[in-house]
Amino acid sequence: MLILADALVSTPDRVLRPGRLRVSGRTIQEVGSDLQALPGEEVLELPGLTLAPGFLNLHAHLELSPLHGKVAPRLPFAEWLRQILALLPGLHATARTASILETSRSAAESGTTTILSILSDPRSLAGLAGTLPRIWWALEFMDLHGDPQPAVQMDRLAAWLSRHPGCDWHAAISPHAPYSASTDLYRACAGLAKNLRMPFTTHWAESAEEAELFKTGNGSLRPLLPDSWVPDSPSDRFEAVPKGSLLAHGNEMAMDDIQHLQTRGCFVVHCPTSHAWFGRKPFPLETFRQQKLPVILGTDSPASSDNRSLDLRVEARAFHQAHPEVSWSEIWSMLTTLPASALGQADRLGTLSPGAQADWVAWRLPPTPTPHPPTTPTHLAPVPTDPIPTILTSTDPAEVISVAGRLHRPEKI
Ligand SMILES: [Zn+2]
Repeated sequence: MLILADALVSTPDRVLRPGRLRVSGRTIQEVGSDLQALPGEEVLELPGLTLAPGFLNLHAHLELSPLHGKVAPRLPFAEWLRQILALLPGLHATARTASILETSRSAAESGTTTILSILSDPRSLAGLAGTLPRIWWALEFMDLHGDPQPAVQMDRLAAWLSRHPGCDWHAAISPHAPYSASTDLYRACAGLAKNLRMPFTTHWAESAEEAELFKTGNGSLRPLLPDSWVPDSPSDRFEAVPKGSLLAHGNEMAMDDIQHLQTRGCFVVHCPTSHAWFGRKPFPLETFRQQKLPVILGTDSPASSDNRSLDLRVEARAFHQAHPEVSWSEIWSMLTTLPASALGQADRLGTLSPGAQADWVAWRLPPTPTPHPPTTPTHLAPVPTDPIPTILTSTDPAEVISVAGRLHRPEKI
């Protein structure tokens, strides 16, 4: 199939006008401005639209949207956690399944074609036949109250995935957080991640309360943990984090920790709207940049954010507001090429280039007024000078979404 659009964002530094994309099945074959239809080739004309790679969201909780608005913002972290823990037993598997479907669809319609979602209750997957975006299901483990048997549960997840070969679903693993998962559990999960070649993610250094717990063995988080809980050695815990891990939040890391994690090729997943929702102190972006520990953007769950539809453009705007020194182009990388490489999918996701998956999004962008006569051919509508900030500041749903070559057009009324 040949797709004809007004413009195409291949990578942050490569925009083509007009934009043409040749796709065969799930894969992009060619990208250019002057591709011509081959004899008998299907042609999809998208006049007035700009093609761009789908975004990747590597920290989400698709199951938890029913908790949106149930807990007040700006609570201390321990109090937020206490209230969430009280609500979770009432969140039944059917509500979680519905949440996965609805939230993943709205995320896709706002441009996200890949999601790594923490899965705290695997029963939520029962009956699920497909999702619009491709998903890495990161099965979550804690061992505050006994051994969760991660090897057994990952085996079950693998069996379930094998029964859905037509879905773009993959496995990942996630010990919940240092205060709820022991070093032994981190080691077991790291071993599984290595043997099964799957992403490893965890909540890491999220709050000042967590830092206090490990520093003093006490504080407001302590009453939420069993009496028998003891902090493990920090150095053992660091050694248990495997290379290339995705560390959600990282708000409270010491310089030594940052340097250690940088040498292990880890990535920090920053969730700007959740950060603002908790009223946290400024995110230490400059330190991460100086230490070359890469930062990508995620959404976290709607239980701790105003971003109910998991729209990564909302995160991009919140991030830009907090860090105006970072260019839109760099923010684009934090949503596309950088998370793709964090997921081990560089050149396959997050880019429109030959050999990549056909995960593209078509946007209708408002034309930018230009002071000079347009230089584009008259049959083409004017396109913005730089589509990247225009896409990231847009609020309408995408016109067309393609995941592995499957097309979806959001219904508009
Ligand atoms: Zn989270």
